[in-house]
Formats: sequence, C-alpha cells, structure tokens
Amino acid sequence: MLQMVDRGALLAQQLIENQRQVDLLLLEQSRLAAEFVQTDFWDWEGSATPYDWIRINCHLTSNTVSDRVSVGERMSELPQSVQAVQERQIGFAHLAVMARTADAVGKAFDETKLLPLAREYSPGKFHYKCLHYRHSVDAQAYAQEQEEQAQHNRIDLSTGEDGCLLLNGVLDPVGGAAVRTALEPLARKSGEHDDRLLPQRYGDALVELASGGRPANIQVTATIETLKGLAGAAGAEMEFSLPISSASLQRRACDCSVTRVLLSQESVVIDIGRSRRMIRGPARKALNARDGHCRWPGCERPASWCDGHHIVHWIEGGTNEPNNLVLLCRRHHRMVHEGGWQLVKCDDGQIITLAPTITFGLPRAPD
Ligand SMILES: [Zn+2]
Ligand SMILES: [Zn+2]
Repeated sequence: MLQMVDRGALLAQQLIENQRQVDLLLLEQSRLAAEFVQTDFWDWEGSATPYDWIRINCHLTSNTVSDRVSVGERMSELPQSVQAVQERQIGFAHLAVMARTADAVGKAFDETKLLPLAREYSPGKFHYKCLHYRHSVDAQAYAQEQEEQAQHNRIDLSTGEDGCLLLNGVLDPVGGAAVRTALEPLARKSGEHDDRLLPQRYGDALVELASGGRPANIQVTATIETLKGLAGAAGAEMEFSLPISSASLQRRACDCSVTRVLLSQESVVIDIGRSRRMIRGPARKALNARDGHCRWPGCERPASWCDGHHIVHWIEGGTNEPNNLVLLCRRHHRMVHEGGWQLVKCDDGQIITLAPTITFGLPRAPD
C-alpha cells in the first residue's frame, strides 16, 4: 500500500515538472509562431494563411494555432504573466486566456488586474473571470459580441438511411443555457432500472421536451390488424418517419397522442381518431389526482408529463375505468409497450415491474 503511495507521489512530481517544461516550450513555440506569421514563407509554400501552414505542418487544431500566435503577439504586453509562467505560478493555458482577453479589449487591457486571478483560479474558471473583466471594461462591445453569437444559432437536421434524425448545430451561450436548463431536469435518472448514460438521457429528454406532455399532432395510418399486433400485419405509417411497429402504435394509441386513421384490410377508412387524449375530462382528472405522477417505482415525472396507460388496451376491450388505468411517463410507457416490461398491479394499488424475458436463441437440436 505504502509502495503505491510512494509511486504516486513520484509520478505527481514528474507530471508537474514535465508540464513546466512543456509550458516553457509552448512559450518559445508561441514566440516563433508570431514571428512566422509576419513572413511570407507560407504563401510561397502555397498555404492560404500562415495559420493554415502552422495547423497542417505542426499537426494542430485551428484553435490551438490561434492561441499560440495570440500569446506570441501579446508577449511584450504581458511581461509579468510570462514571468509567472516561467516561475510556474500559472500555466501556459492561463496565458492563452489572457492573450485572448487582450485581443478582445484592446488598449484598455491591464495584465495586473488579471494576474492575481490567474494565480488563484484554474484556467477554465479564469476564462470565466476574464469574461466578467471584458464586460467591466467595455459592456457595449461585450453585448454586441453576444448578440453576434446569437445571430449564428443554427441546427442542421438530416435524416439517415435508417430514418434516424441527425442533429448538428451550435447555440449561443445564453440560448444554450436555456436549452440546458430545460433538458437537465428531464435528463436526470428516473426510477428503478435506469442504466442509461447521460448522452442517452439527453436524447430522451429532448424528445420528451418536444412533446411537452401534450399529444403530438402527428398522423398515423394503420390497419386494425397492426393496432392489434397480429402476426403478418404491416407496420403503421407515421408522418416524418419510416413505418413504425405495432408495439409503438399501441403505445401512441393507448392515450392517443396521435391523429390516427384506421383502415380496414381493404384500405377503407373505418375510424379517424382526433389528436386528443383517450382519457380526458373527469376520468383524466381522477387519474391525475389518484396517481399524481408516473407510477413506475421510483419515478416522479409529474402527471402533466404522463400518458394514461390502459393495463388492458382499449383495442382489446379495456375500459377507461380507474382500475384499468395507470399514469406512466413517456419513457416508462415506452418500456411497457415497446420494451416488453410488464406491470403488475397489486391489490393495494402498488405497481410491480417485471423485466422482459431474455431468450438467447433456441435450444440446440441433437446432432
Ligand atoms: Zn399504454
Ligand atoms: Zn416514469
């Protein structure tokens, strides 16, 4: 045990000393980079900009190149901070933040205001402090910069071959924070058996947020056979999506979060459900009052975010009576219909969940 501690202490010392050497080399590299951009060698070599030349030939990202050049160009205005790096009081990362701040505020920049903060805070936190500093120096320029960032909000949506929606985009810090604030509470772990990782929980949270607990006004066309989940039935058709499974259709039809068009086998329209809840009015109020929130063990998603699940589906003759209904949030409702989980309602109203049975292929026949 003691050996491990000793080894750790030695490694810690080496890590710190190595980083200092790296930081000193980065200082030198920055000085060289700033001088290099003044030459026209890069042009002669056929690069579009000196930054591009450095990026490609030194195998760096464009942000890293900008940091290096920015530090190199600002070095003469940051003598105390450069010295602080050499004396290991701050890291090169602090200096990069400082140089960027100097770029942003121009003449008003004063390193003596920021150096004590760099000594006190980690580079990440220091970056934050520098933003406050920028605001204090020139609030108008800061506001303008934020406004420009907001003008560049964008989300690209594309549909993959498998029908999945691919999202890619960028939001300004304020807009991004609003989205995060909305997603965070929905992305917390919910109830028992929740082993999703955070990115998956964010994905589910976004889908949940998009419906906002309201029935989505999406049209689904299916046959009775599909709705009943009979063998051999085709999938259901849904707007903006590839065909969906009967299990998914059953969930959507369970408390009607879709406009549905039911066809007979001869494709004659036999029923058009409107986009409103199956369970509504006094029945819905009574259900919300009785259950209060999702009844999956350990889940507390409020009633307004839940569907009313029919324990016996209405297509199989299940009623809207309270004893056939239970509130489930979207995720848990999906786990029941599509995920094969079973709900068992005990005499005292308590809900027990049974995990789907997993079968690992068919038993092997004798050779
Ligand atoms: Zn249901
Ligand atoms: Zn739930």
